[in-house]
Amino acid sequence: MLQMQFIPMPKNSVKTVVTIGPASDSVQMIKILLEKGADVFRLNASHNDLDYHKRIIERIRSLEKLMKLDIPILLDLPGPKLRTGKVKEGKVNLKIGEVYTFGPNADIEISSSIINKIRIGDTIKLSDGKFELKVISRTDSTFRAKSLDYGQLLEDQSINCEHLTYEKEYPTERDREIIRFGLENGVNCFGLSFVSSAKDVMNVRKLTGEDSILVSKIERPDAVKNLKEILSCTDVVMVARGDLGLNVDISKLPEMQRSMIALANQAHKPVIVATQMLESMVANPIPTRAEVNDVFTAIYEGTDAVMLSEESAVGNYPIKSFVMLKKLIDSFDNKIIQKPTYKMENEEDGIADAAVLLSERINVNNILVLTSLGGSAFRLSRYHSDKRIFAATDKKSTFYRLSFGRNIYPLLFPSLDGFKGEAMHKIKNLTDADKIIVLSDSFVEGHKAKAISLLYL
Ligand code: PGA
Ligand code: MN
Repeated sequence: MLQMQFIPMPKNSVKTVVTIGPASDSVQMIKILLEKGADVFRLNASHNDLDYHKRIIERIRSLEKLMKLDIPILLDLPGPKLRTGKVKEGKVNLKIGEVYTFGPNADIEISSSIINKIRIGDTIKLSDGKFELKVISRTDSTFRAKSLDYGQLLEDQSINCEHLTYEKEYPTERDREIIRFGLENGVNCFGLSFVSSAKDVMNVRKLTGEDSILVSKIERPDAVKNLKEILSCTDVVMVARGDLGLNVDISKLPEMQRSMIALANQAHKPVIVATQMLESMVANPIPTRAEVNDVFTAIYEGTDAVMLSEESAVGNYPIKSFVMLKKLIDSFDNKIIQKPTYKMENEEDGIADAAVLLSERINVNNILVLTSLGGSAFRLSRYHSDKRIFAATDKKSTFYRLSFGRNIYPLLFPSLDGFKGEAMHKIKNLTDADKIIVLSDSFVEGHKAKAISLLYL
């Protein structure tokens, strides 16, 4: 049984993660996004209640059945994000130079664990960095801060400050509840917000099981520092530029993105570049030139996937944003990428390297790889060549994992035994090629072998 036959894979396929929210949650909208080739849908559990997400999951799954498609739903957990609490009358109009009290029953309510860490002289940033305030005095249970900006502050907004550390418990109680909800509703792909270490990822894995697909969002400095160990146990990694840009010096962001992509490629784990890729399209029907360049840069640097957040979730132009993103992806020419070189860490790395080299030397445009967990497919895709990689698996979780990988066309079969005959015939229908390179385990005279074969279709 071949999946995803409905939509032919375009030549250059950097994958798309599309956040579904009020602007895009109708049957009609989801259908259009599927038809236009969305690869992953993301539901952000920080917004809306679980009943809402349940309805959307059901909606997506029934549409997919109808359209003979199957794509991962990424349920994004809130994680230990630091937030303010209630404000009088639901909003406060901040004025420049005005002083506000933070604490119980104060102008802006805030937990005592946060108050304890704030020092006089600190600059705090509220609401994703929109407002800066300078802390001028404090008592045991409150602090006062002078606003350096003006604007409307709502309830439950993010708070960032140099001395604020995140709650240690990972996943949080709320995350656990959402994980249970996801598993009960057939979702086993989770976004891990504000992870700090490999241990955090493994704690989640204990709850979600070996087959789950965990997307570690790198958005705090300790996660950047621990990226290598996080990569060793996560399935996918996300350059979460929104919060990361608040938690580090923003001028360091471009270099961080570049090196995080390179590290993920080396670890053969798919990487998503996220947040504000086409931000101005929340309000406008066309992107800025800078945004067009940003998408290009992420692709050029070797990302596997790019993501839409507010653009598709709450923006005025969800479909236009997606169509624009696809256009930018499809018009990118992989040939301009200088072939990356990787440290060969084991035989599998070397064999994949050789298969890509062979495909170039003899000019074969398609590679088929049989994979049980996805690793051998990601080892091929990290060369970002214009070769098309068909990755066949007999595991649904691997099929979903492969959906994140650049240039990978995932195929799900009931079994990979005796796979080559009929399946090869089907692959022939998906490409007009007369040859394909096949990477698989096999047996030679009773011994296990890794084989690169050239197959004539
Ligand atoms: P968020 O994560 O949209 O859940 O905050 C992405 C980011 O911070 O960039
Ligand atoms: Mn974030």
